[in-house]
Amino acid sequence: MLSQNIFDKEFDRDSVFTDRNLLSPHYTPLELPFREHQIKQISHILGQTLHNKKSDNLFIYGKTGTGKTSTTKNVMKQLVEFSSAKNIKVEGIYINCRNHNSKYRALIKIVKDLYPEGNFMGFSAAFIYEKLVGYVRAGKQLVIVLDEVDKVKDLDELIYALTRSNDEIDKGGITVVGISNNLMFKDRLDPRTKSSLCEQEMVFPPYNAEELKEILKRRAEHAFKKDVVEDSALSLAAAFAAQESGDARTAVMLLLRAGEVADRKGIEKITDEEVKKAKNKVEEELILNMVSTLPEQQQLVLYAISVLSLEKRGIRKITGQLEEGVLFSGEIYDEYERIAKKIGKDVVSARWYREYISELEMYGLILSTNSGKGIKGQTRLIKLGFDARKIRQLLEKELMIG
Ligand code: ADP
Ligand code: MG
Repeated sequence: MLSQNIFDKEFDRDSVFTDRNLLSPHYTPLELPFREHQIKQISHILGQTLHNKKSDNLFIYGKTGTGKTSTTKNVMKQLVEFSSAKNIKVEGIYINCRNHNSKYRALIKIVKDLYPEGNFMGFSAAFIYEKLVGYVRAGKQLVIVLDEVDKVKDLDELIYALTRSNDEIDKGGITVVGISNNLMFKDRLDPRTKSSLCEQEMVFPPYNAEELKEILKRRAEHAFKKDVVEDSALSLAAAFAAQESGDARTAVMLLLRAGEVADRKGIEKITDEEVKKAKNKVEEELILNMVSTLPEQQQLVLYAISVLSLEKRGIRKITGQLEEGVLFSGEIYDEYERIAKKIGKDVVSARWYREYISELEMYGLILSTNSGKGIKGQTRLIKLGFDARKIRQLLEKELMIG
């Protein structure tokens, strides 16, 4: 007799989930508790387009995980559904500028969405712009969402192009919705860009622990079998995420990972213990995610720190005591310079280097102190705030070295 296929068991294996995908970061939930007010406000603004009027441009900002992307996508989906049911010429385009981070790339993405058959790679920006204007001129109202808009290198030019087009069109119109996780970004905008983009503004506040608990409870009802998650586990996950600045993404990640922990253990309940296990994992994921979105030059500095942390035994103080993992700022700069040159990258000045060090410290990726008198002269001492091996491994991949 044939032995049993290993997947028979794997396939039937008990799981706490009914649908794990419902907790994936890519999934947009259908209901968004505590964002009713924001949904109403956005739809009030964008509703103008249904009367064939260009609506005010809108700038939405707030910390990561406050529901900006989900809320905007939710409203856009309803706007497009409504207009197509009523045969009104409104169309929506969503762009994550992290993946389309220049005026040219964003415009290409827009016309590609408008003309799915066309291939626009390699055409001039002027040609692509004309394609866009031509589309709208047929009497369409176009709403363009630029998510993570701060990632666009030449944003002034992009916003100028999109808003200027309205002067050239008399029938249709283009409305821009910009979204940013960066609270300071708005103040750094060129005044003209600011006044075009921020005709209307909205801030998304962080969720508090109570709100996060309710959000998790509702998400759990869809993603898990009945009564799988203990109430205290929900509270704990919500409390952890509330500490992480009220970030619903962290909260949902905790729930997902806690479910995976339970499955691995083969148990049917998610308790505090699984949430605590999940917390370590999620924290690590958050840090690695932050590292992989740093600008390249900062990644190089951090890479140099991780390499030296692994190579050196630390520094010896006057007392003879060994301080593990502690590095001199100067030796990091030398190592950074060596690595950058080796892989053919620019080397920034020492002044910029110090700027990068302060930013890395602000993100909690490194710790630094002044040496005081215990060590030769006065110098800055730096220590990695996280597992050096993991950082080095990740950055080798990101920077394609190793
Ligand atoms: P932001 O764009 O502000 O960083 P997102 O909209 O991406 O935040 O939300 C982060 C995660 O949290 C997503 O997985 C989303 O599904 C979830 N989330 C955010 N707000 C809510 C809410 N009110 N109800 C349910 N899930 C939410
Ligand atoms: Mg977002």
